[in-house]
Amino acid sequence: MAASGRTPAEVTELAARFGTPLYLYDGDVLTAQFRGLRDRLDPAIDIYYSLKANPNVSVCGLLHTLGAKAEVSSLTELRTALTARVAPQDILFLGPGKSREEIVECLTQGVRAIICESFGELELIDDVARDLGTTAKVVLRVNPSFTVKGSGLTMGGKPRQFGIDEAQLLADPTLASRFGAVALMGVQAYMGTRILTEETIVENTRRIFDLAERVAAFLGFDLELVDVGGGLGVAYFERERDLDVEVLTETLNPVIAAFAAAHPGTSLAMELGRYLVATCGTYVTRVRFVKESMDERFAVADGGTNHHMAAVGIGSFVKRNFPMRLVNRVSLAENVPWNVTGPLCTPNDTIGKAVALPEDLVPGDLVAVDRSGAYGVTASPVHFLSHGYPAEVLLHGDEALLVRRRDRVEDLLGPQVFHDLSAEVSRPEPASPVSL
Ligand SMILES: *Cc1c(COP(=O)(O)O)cnc(C)c1O
Repeated sequence: MAASGRTPAEVTELAARFGTPLYLYDGDVLTAQFRGLRDRLDPAIDIYYSLKANPNVSVCGLLHTLGAKAEVSSLTELRTALTARVAPQDILFLGPGKSREEIVECLTQGVRAIICESFGELELIDDVARDLGTTAKVVLRVNPSFTVKGSGLTMGGKPRQFGIDEAQLLADPTLASRFGAVALMGVQAYMGTRILTEETIVENTRRIFDLAERVAAFLGFDLELVDVGGGLGVAYFERERDLDVEVLTETLNPVIAAFAAAHPGTSLAMELGRYLVATCGTYVTRVRFVKESMDERFAVADGGTNHHMAAVGIGSFVKRNFPMRLVNRVSLAENVPWNVTGPLCTPNDTIGKAVALPEDLVPGDLVAVDRSGAYGVTASPVHFLSHGYPAEVLLHGDEALLVRRRDRVEDLLGPQVFHDLSAEVSRPEPASPVSL
């Protein structure tokens, strides 16, 4: 499992320069990961970057420069993509609980499509579009009747809050005409995340293409866009292996080409988060204290699950460790099991359990967690104990660019309002007889 492209000496220098805890994103690794897929994948399908995986505006910007479009799920993610110079017509907006404000913004900015997840949302989109005197372009997110095994977390083919059940759509022949300010123009389905078998992705794609044809034919609209989801994984743990991009594209491209040939006017989309950004990221912490408790070794570091909840094992009950290593020096000491923990006052703040690290680990050592570019700080309880965001640095060629400074106390305390209630809180009355 390859670590990011930087040498331990470079990582050590960057940790000294920017402080720890720190996220490093290696732009060269990101570029290679994107191009490795893009250059082999049938050009008929566009790659949309799911900002959810890593919403840093410069990471999004670099992916956009490489040719990725954007898929966003909140007002801030939408603004992030626009700030990163993604054109509105290259943005899809998705999410099960969209607000009126978000829909207004989608329509006024002119995003490519809103991916609609419920009948209630369709009504709201129709209402907003009517108010604005426009027509909303809407892609239906379908919860298919089928499920395909092989993802880490199944998102479709089960009772879910996402999308509209295929069976409900196929029982509603007047849907397309009921909402006068909505133009149905596509179908999306997302089957699950962390998929590491090529056949599963090919099978998902084939079935989503069939689903799109079925739904569009039944409801009677033209397929302007089909979004086949994605969910491509990367290996984190022992006995996992990375997708073989050659094998994947050799088997996937004929499926894409066949659909594209049958539907020449239809744009095709694949949404990718984790696959694009996971491998480029390294989370760097510095050991503050080492201690023993009941025969186990603990390295207490300056950052933990508050920045890297995913390291706890991505929802699995069996604790498995992300790839971790000592970076600031070469140790000849034997590797022994260390629990790597953070600054939170909870035993759950353990980013590595019984990780093999040198026996002579000391305060000041740097421990790096590799493959941490996706669902890192963004999916962590970053405000727990009010430590806030760590610094984020994007490495681009010879440059190390600070792309987010670490939170300061003011950043965390600033939005709070102190109401001094001392004058209003009545002092306890001296005990006196109760009179009625
Ligand atoms: C989270 C999500 C993605 C990105 O998933 P990855 O597994 O990170 O690629 C794409 N589409 C939808 C609908 C999602 O919810």
